[in-house]
Amino acid sequence: MRLVIVESPAKAKTINKYLGSDFKVMASYGHIRDLLAKDGSVQPDNNFSMVWEMSARGKKCVQDIVKQLKNCDELLLATDPDREGEAISWHIKEVLQEAKKLKVPFKRIAFHEITKSAIKAAIENPRDIDNSLVDAYLARRALDYLVGFNLSPILWRKLPGSKSAGRVQSVALRIIVDREIEIESFEKKEYWTIEGKFAAPDKKTFPAHLTHHNGKKLDKFSIKNEQEALAIKGELVDDFAVSKVESKIVKRNPAPAFITSTLQQEASRKLGFSAKKTMQLAQNLYEGVDIGGETKALITYMRTDSINLSTDAVNKIRQVIEEKYGKDFVPSKPRVYNTKVKNAQEAHEAIRPVDASIIPDTLAGKLSDDQLKLYTLIWKRAVACQMSSAEFNKVQVDLSDKNKNIFRANGNTVVFEGFLKVYVEGKDDQDENEEGLLPPLKEGDNTPTKKIEALQHFTTPPPRFSEASLVKKLEELGIGRPSTYATILQVLQDRGYVKLVKKFFVPEIRGRLVTSFLMSFFSHYLEYGFTADLEQFLDDVSNNSRSKLDVLNDFWKDFSVAIAGMKNIKISDVIDKLNESMEKFLFMSDGKVTRQCPECKEGELSLKIGRFGSFIGCSRYPECNYVRKLDSSPMNQDDSAMIAASEFPKFLGNDPADNAEILLKKGPYGLYLEKKDQNKTEEKSKKKEKPQRAPVPKTVEADKVDLKMALFLLSLPKSIGTVGTEEVKVGIGRYGPYVFFKGKYVSIPKTEDIFSVDLPKACEILKGRKLI
Ligand SMILES: [Zn+2]
Repeated sequence: MRLVIVESPAKAKTINKYLGSDFKVMASYGHIRDLLAKDGSVQPDNNFSMVWEMSARGKKCVQDIVKQLKNCDELLLATDPDREGEAISWHIKEVLQEAKKLKVPFKRIAFHEITKSAIKAAIENPRDIDNSLVDAYLARRALDYLVGFNLSPILWRKLPGSKSAGRVQSVALRIIVDREIEIESFEKKEYWTIEGKFAAPDKKTFPAHLTHHNGKKLDKFSIKNEQEALAIKGELVDDFAVSKVESKIVKRNPAPAFITSTLQQEASRKLGFSAKKTMQLAQNLYEGVDIGGETKALITYMRTDSINLSTDAVNKIRQVIEEKYGKDFVPSKPRVYNTKVKNAQEAHEAIRPVDASIIPDTLAGKLSDDQLKLYTLIWKRAVACQMSSAEFNKVQVDLSDKNKNIFRANGNTVVFEGFLKVYVEGKDDQDENEEGLLPPLKEGDNTPTKKIEALQHFTTPPPRFSEASLVKKLEELGIGRPSTYATILQVLQDRGYVKLVKKFFVPEIRGRLVTSFLMSFFSHYLEYGFTADLEQFLDDVSNNSRSKLDVLNDFWKDFSVAIAGMKNIKISDVIDKLNESMEKFLFMSDGKVTRQCPECKEGELSLKIGRFGSFIGCSRYPECNYVRKLDSSPMNQDDSAMIAASEFPKFLGNDPADNAEILLKKGPYGLYLEKKDQNKTEEKSKKKEKPQRAPVPKTVEADKVDLKMALFLLSLPKSIGTVGTEEVKVGIGRYGPYVFFKGKYVSIPKTEDIFSVDLPKACEILKGRKLI
């Protein structure tokens, strides 16, 4: 009997059916132990030795393994085929050896797809645990720990209210914050274009734009204002004729099959999935899904940075293309994609269907909707990457008059669809002009003018990052590794550093302060180059070209000095630094930076940092109590107003009692609810009866407000019981949520939320104020 350890129960189930009764398959449920979450779990002075702690589940798992091993003569570690999987196998082996419970030979096996042949091949070719991969894992874990455990306490002490810093996470945050600053300081520039509509000899009209004026080529900003535009327009009289026709066949090739990052990007663009969701679904498809009572794995391993496909897979795909789309769609030779391999050992194959002949349509009703969407995307991309190129006929036609004014028309027609029949890669920027068909035109043709107009344009700031574009940016910069992107994006949101507004990342005040703080005191560690280099060093460790200790020592030498240097820095020093570095963000008023207090005109404005938020206050406090709330994006009012306006009012549902519509709205004082009276009579309207409204507590975000919550808030103030003969009520007033008892209002502490205040809790609050 041989014992096989995999990571998940789903994978265990799928594998079990391919292995005979000589094998017993067990799941480790991920890692069995992790660094002890305490100071000193990585010891730089002791060769960076690490202190591990087993999880409760890990202990149980090891016990089960020990029990099973008694009846087995070999241990096969079949955790996932990447750095993390290698580490899980290593931990299991270490724990067993430390406990002297590993008395049988052990081997490591790895496969990228869960098929009978792949598993058989792996079992026939077992290997040892790859210590270079494990070292790379250990080094990464140590680095992340050292940064997190040293930097976070400094943040808590010197910048109250901030949560944590992380090696890669803080750099990702910086990218988002930098973009916001870029948007805020963007000055839009006006420019004009001249667009025309002309008639071809066959009477069909087509559009063209002015490229030359009096023989001079126009560039984007050549026409600066309306006056210039109208002057040029006035000169363009109706005698344009075709002066040049150019046409050429252009080929377009398909994109390679998915790797982790491109899968995340396309699933975000095309399906609206978060990186986290995509990875969870892909994991299901890789480990095996129950299809009509049979567990079947559908895709290859989803954490990979290789675009390579196995020969077998390519042959199968070519066969499917021929059967489904015809011979023309199969190129004469298979397409070969080469990865700029950094991690040959970790990356073997792109993400593809395990069996391309499993056509997505045939799985309808057998997978969940989202699983099917993702499988379809992966299947199409893998199939398309082996299809013929698409061919376009690109036509460019110039129309000239005798004054050397030239209009140009572009046409683009598909001659052969090729891979486009199956898959087109998405884009983040929308402004790609897909030109259509042009009517037949030849040199000398007269093209009477149908219309000429001058159009005003403005340059637009660079867009905020979406999940897809941020993943792309991180990858371009070489920061983090695709397998970690989903977690990073989630952590930034969980910490309240950024939020997603209409699928775009907007930094929160807290995120801006943290970034500014780190840029002021730890800028070196937020440099893109530094972080990318470190990733490269980790790759070097996994390729065995650099040692773990070398990388860690190098890092620690400087980092420990930077940390020590923070000892004597006071909070007031931090505030000074932030006042200076965030000057534009904090003190901009009417287009200029001013720190004079607008109320007393004597004091100086400064950032004030509290546990529950930051604001701007006057240096003469308490004599002057001027305060100003900080807005996530104050210098970009019209933009944030636009986002806000499109979101509100939001219809939440109907009140079951009287069927009235309940709306969530946004006013100058924040979110509020409005109940629309369906039975509004003319009489009521005349009396100007106001609709019923209720504020939403500031702590509740707009997307958390649902109908149930809305009905509760609209029912306030509300009696929650009696003490003696006196009623106890809860409600929300000008100063926030309160408990009302015997004519007195008592604020509900910030640690409680109004939704969970029942009679016992209310009594507790009242007792605290000695009212009972
Ligand atoms: Zn003042």
